[in-house]
Amino acid sequence: MNLLEVQNLKVHFPVRKGFLSRSKEFVRAVDGVTFLIAHGETVGLVGESGCGKSTLSRAIVRLINPTQGKILFEGDDIAVMSNSEMRKRRRRLQMIFQDPYGSLNPRMTVGDAIGEGLDIHRLTPGQGERQQRIAQLLKNVGLDSSHAGRFPHEFSGGQRQRIGIARALAVEPSLIICDEPVSALDVSVQAQIINLLHDLQHKFGIAYLFVAHDIAVVEHISHRILVMYLGRIVESGDARTVCRSPKHPYTQALISAVPVLDPDSKGQRIILGGDVPSPIHPPGGCPFHPRCPVAEPRCKTEVPHLREITPGHQAACHLAT
Ligand code: SF4
Repeated sequence: MNLLEVQNLKVHFPVRKGFLSRSKEFVRAVDGVTFLIAHGETVGLVGESGCGKSTLSRAIVRLINPTQGKILFEGDDIAVMSNSEMRKRRRRLQMIFQDPYGSLNPRMTVGDAIGEGLDIHRLTPGQGERQQRIAQLLKNVGLDSSHAGRFPHEFSGGQRQRIGIARALAVEPSLIICDEPVSALDVSVQAQIINLLHDLQHKFGIAYLFVAHDIAVVEHISHRILVMYLGRIVESGDARTVCRSPKHPYTQALISAVPVLDPDSKGQRIILGGDVPSPIHPPGGCPFHPRCPVAEPRCKTEVPHLREITPGHQAACHLAT
């Protein structure tokens, strides 16, 4: 059994025309997404801002209610769970955010922020065990037990992300949704956090859905990659194959934008025209056709479906071979 199976998930938001009235239009933020995550696996989710990846990750932990589809987590469909059932299930399904400061109460010590989950789920019977567990969690993320008495503003961005990770780890999750966890950090600190997530995966067997807009970062940490555009998955496969041999022109453009240190590199940058189109009125046919450098006339009318190009490697493009 897979740890997570997302089946044809849709998140559509009604467009409000005024204070009270709703129009009949919808923002199709996530529009029929299907994928799996195995136990102990890291799946990277990549795409430009506005492609729907953050909405998808929030829908998986039910911070946003899905419009349609299934989210089978450890065998149960959490898309239809009541809030009280979901609260219990959240112990195994945690999330870390781009801005850990925003998710930490500035008036709560780091020890209490980490201990909150232990208290809610009654994981430590006494104060002594609680303190020991908090000290161990701080150690696991490379901090010192003396940090437990300090407040979030006393830490750097990288240290705050470590606190966010310790908080998620406290309740022994099997899956952590990492929503752009390194995007706001300096490059050297990014590497430290990615290495930490990697080490924790080895130690505790946790699976990650790692969301980012930088495909180079995603390649480094992921076993498999999903590329998202306008609410849909347009390419998926093992990380190395997708990054070395991308089949979808959108993935090719993302990879061509990654800076290369070699001055003799012959890689040519593909500049995409325009912005991501509105998810209220997505283009007909292939949603990528207005920006695609190799679009053909049929791309304006025929929707390309995600299909297997080579074993385990899928792309949604009429020309992919
Ligand atoms: Fe480009 Fe057509 Fe492929 Fe879409 S289906 S990515 S428009 S070539």
